Amino acid sequence: MQFIDPHVHMVSRTTDDYEAMRAAGVVALIEPAFWLGQPRTEVGTFKDYFSTLVGWERFRSSQFGIRHYCTMGLNSKEANNEPLAEAVMELLPLFATKEGVVAIGEIGYDDQTAAEDKYFRQQIELAKELDLPILIHTPHRDKKNGTYRSMDVLEEHGCDPTKVVIDHCNEETAKEVLDRGYWTAFTIYPGTKMGNERMVDLMKHYGPERIIVDSSADWGISDPLSVPKTAALMLQRGISEADVKKVTYGNALAAYGQSGQMKESDWIDAPDIDRNEVFNGNSVLRNGRKADKIIH
Ligand SMILES: [Zn+2]
Repeated sequence: MQFIDPHVHMVSRTTDDYEAMRAAGVVALIEPAFWLGQPRTEVGTFKDYFSTLVGWERFRSSQFGIRHYCTMGLNSKEANNEPLAEAVMELLPLFATKEGVVAIGEIGYDDQTAAEDKYFRQQIELAKELDLPILIHTPHRDKKNGTYRSMDVLEEHGCDPTKVVIDHCNEETAKEVLDRGYWTAFTIYPGTKMGNERMVDLMKHYGPERIIVDSSADWGISDPLSVPKTAALMLQRGISEADVKKVTYGNALAAYGQSGQMKESDWIDAPDIDRNEVFNGNSVLRNGRKADKIIH
């Protein structure tokens, strides 16, 4: 089977991860702009990070046979540094319109402060202006209220729920998110949030419509293989291949494909991998080495 991991922070991951993901069937991924584990102090580091998402990381991924897309946004945590947030908001329209950008995100609430609310609303308006889907990060603390409030605000701004992915859902929030018509995404973290078995139970309960599975793998303890692993467990537990395909491939493609930036032919018709290729003069090979073969 082929998979899409629609939420994974590859800048924090290794080439071993890329190789393992491709071997497990991941053909495309989406890397949402997020924070780095510590707060940035300058707008320039945002600019370089955004450039990496549409530049080097996209190239690096392609060298391992995985099509790379990203989302652009000011994350909720760093929205609380208002002078910095203002400067980032000025950068966003430029980067949100680059090739391979499939949504504005991940945006929403962290501590549900006034500053978070302000930049959340501004970015909803930016997404509407650019006609891009939105990826919502729901908070880890006070999740239920934060999730409901995010949807209230989206609806206040007249957003079409079929263009919004609400991520990091759980058993407590799933029903409301589905009932209100949103794409409902679940992060499979090892040991926390959604365990694989819990995801199987949710699938058995709700079926595959508008449900999306992702890894959200980043610089913390996480598993870049959690999408293929969850698919394997679902099949083992008797969920049909068609349903598994929907939640680990088809639904993400349908949701983010609305950007006009992501289509199946991107990876089906991808050229062979030539690791002698360079991006800004740099390749994934070590200095002086030459790749001896082209990978089909
Ligand atoms: Zn994330």
